[in-house]
Amino acid sequence: MEQLQSLRGMVDLLPAATSRWQWLEQTAREHFRRSCIREIRTPLLEATELFARGIGEATDVVGKEMYSFNDRGDRSCTLRPEGTASVVRAAIQHGLLSQGAQRLWYGGPMFRYERPQGGRQRQFHQIGIEFLGFADPRSDVEAIAIAWDLLEALGITGLQLELNSLGSRDDRQAYRDALVAWLTERQDQLDTDSQQRLATNPLRILDSKNPQTQQLLQDAPNLEQSLSDASRERYEEVKAGLSALNIPHLCNPRLVRGLDYYGHTAFEITSDALGAQATVCGGGRYDGLVEQLGGPAAACVGWAMGLERLMLLLPDKSQQSQPPDVVVISQGSAAAALAVPVARQLRQIGQAVDVDLSGAGFGKQLKRAGKSGARWAVLIGDEEASSGQLQRKDLNSGDSSTIALQSLAENWIS
Ligand code: ATP
Ligand code: MG
Repeated sequence: MEQLQSLRGMVDLLPAATSRWQWLEQTAREHFRRSCIREIRTPLLEATELFARGIGEATDVVGKEMYSFNDRGDRSCTLRPEGTASVVRAAIQHGLLSQGAQRLWYGGPMFRYERPQGGRQRQFHQIGIEFLGFADPRSDVEAIAIAWDLLEALGITGLQLELNSLGSRDDRQAYRDALVAWLTERQDQLDTDSQQRLATNPLRILDSKNPQTQQLLQDAPNLEQSLSDASRERYEEVKAGLSALNIPHLCNPRLVRGLDYYGHTAFEITSDALGAQATVCGGGRYDGLVEQLGGPAAACVGWAMGLERLMLLLPDKSQQSQPPDVVVISQGSAAAALAVPVARQLRQIGQAVDVDLSGAGFGKQLKRAGKSGARWAVLIGDEEASSGQLQRKDLNSGDSSTIALQSLAENWIS
């Protein structure tokens, strides 16, 4: 029969990889705990309208990348392509903001119909934080510092933080007008994608990967020139806050981010080691989104990291999977009946126990136990089974001793 395969861009994580993933997730969880950020979990499936309204129709994510379908009740549903819109929806729906400002984190799979390549999948994983109800520039600094320090805790080096201010809504409108006017005069020099964006999402043209367009943009009006004094001052405060924390940052006036809801601070953390898919973390301020989704006015800042890209950057030492503490080995029918109960007792006192159920000879089982990296083997033959005295072998030194089955848990010292 023909073998079934996973769908394109949907990746299995095999046991050899999952211990690294667990370590990464654990490190992040601990980092968020220390930052007093609480976890929120939202459904993978949402009404399509949430993303259309929350992310913006003219973005690549909504326009080209969503997994949308009609369910059996003929409602348009979408597998979440990112976390922010869902977190904001949930916060509004459950009135979280009436309980005060919220520091939240989330993690899990996201879905985007993109061309799969290194560091780009159709099901991928993000962790992210959202600070809801925080307007102070210090919250931008804190959010960025939490990302930066997490990357450091993961042992990832060679990162660059790029920063921009997209200003207020009015600043952006003024800039958009200036940019559109300037680009319209040079429309024929733009790539086709950018020509389309001129009408739908002109700021995104700054993000174009097309070299000729990038060349042209060298002389285009600068976003910074459109910033009001207040926006400029706010931007300076964020930069000063980062400098005070010794977090190096580079101002990039072309950094606009893909999603519509950003204003003021926008940032990305990139790594040279990743090739074309260089961004590991992206985020910024989205003060209008809560209201846009029907909630109260609430200023917000947040970011998301792509875990697959983090995985590519983790140093090797974080790769090891843990060997068992003990392997239980048995031969003979009376002994075989004790193998699982013995393993269970040892697990109940916290040992990581593998149990050999192969029915192979002692010698072969012992050899396998040695290879597993376990510290101990517990040997049960029929003689041990009838006497109730099990053999415990130290696989490092080769020494053996007996241990009574009756008081296994009490006498087990590792
Ligand atoms: P890119 O420019 O790489 O497409 P993006 O701006 O679309 O990124 P965001 O929506 O900001 O990405 O998501 C935050 C992070 O999630 C990215 O920086 C990246 O690390 C990761 N990410 C986004 N899309 C994918 C994907 N298809 N596969 C793997 N990781 C992804
Ligand atoms: Mg993208």
